[in-house]
Amino acid sequence: MISLKSVSKVFKTRNGPVKAVDDIDLTINEGEIYGIIGYSGAGKSTLIRMLNGLETPTDGVVDVAGKNLGKVKGSELRKARQEISMIFQHFNLLWSRTVKENIAFPLEIAGVGRAERNRRVEELIKLVGLEGREDSYPSQLSGGQKQRVGIARALANNPKVLLCDEATSALDPQTTDSILELLVDINKRLSLTIVLITHEMHVIRKICHRVAVMENGKIVEQGEVLHVFRKPEQPITKRFVKQVTETEETQETIEHLLTEFPRGKVIQMTFVGTSVEQPLISNLIRKFDININILQGKISQTQNGAYGSLFVHLDGEQAEIDRAVAYIKEQQVELEVMTRA
Ligand code: ADP
Repeated sequence: MISLKSVSKVFKTRNGPVKAVDDIDLTINEGEIYGIIGYSGAGKSTLIRMLNGLETPTDGVVDVAGKNLGKVKGSELRKARQEISMIFQHFNLLWSRTVKENIAFPLEIAGVGRAERNRRVEELIKLVGLEGREDSYPSQLSGGQKQRVGIARALANNPKVLLCDEATSALDPQTTDSILELLVDINKRLSLTIVLITHEMHVIRKICHRVAVMENGKIVEQGEVLHVFRKPEQPITKRFVKQVTETEETQETIEHLLTEFPRGKVIQMTFVGTSVEQPLISNLIRKFDININILQGKISQTQNGAYGSLFVHLDGEQAEIDRAVAYIKEQQVELEVMTRA
């Protein structure tokens, strides 16, 4: 379904050329869910933009659904691009249109008549589980529901390939899981080929069949997800795998922590490429009238920022704890508040 041969992309910038994608070979089969993982700046966005014809490669050949995207132009390129759809981290919905109208939009552009459009929208609403929300505006929806609209809209014209650009990165863990389950369901039902880019290894592990690890514009490792988890070869891959397994180990201790600290809140802060100059903990102590116990966890500094996770117990007045949690949510860290069973 997708084939990249010796593909490179160089951007000319004021500071000289930047090789965003460096000599990549990649084959993705029909019906496969393929993950591309890398830290910020690895070249993932540039790669996915070449897969839907938004960027042309400087070198090499990008074939998608039987078309050489670098060669086709004008109406043929537009037709080729109808086979390829994309969903985004921040959903990219039309805010002044309802759910129904957002989903109908690509059909309108494709010149589909009103009756057929309505039939198709209804079918898509069912497929993504948005029954009853047809006339809501995006601002009235939760993050997960917004992404469901994004998915329905992306599927409107029956594409062969769905590209997912950090599609769950703005969602909480539970919602992430439900969106990933929806993607698996769609992949099976429609035999849709799905390519997703992410910096989160748990996303890869949850739904991908194969994975490619990108670093400095190159694919440094690729293979079956199970195999990569069992035997990661490259240091960067080992780091991604560890990110997931460490989280799992700590999951086992959550119950224990919650019984040990019956008052206040136990939270997990996950740092993914965060700048550690940001003195989060000392700000919390300074700004809020609460006690903070750092229970366990580890953060390591890399050239791409800080990675790791901390379990922290916040104790004090409920309102003050809530304010502190709201403050952490505004920072560049991912936050999970542990709940008592
Ligand atoms: P990722 O999606 O993995 O974060 P990107 O593909 O966005 O990586 O970026 C890879 C590299 O290419 C970065 O060094 C980035 O600064 C550079 N880059 C991306 N797009 C452009 C552009 N339009 N012009 C110049 N440099 C770019």
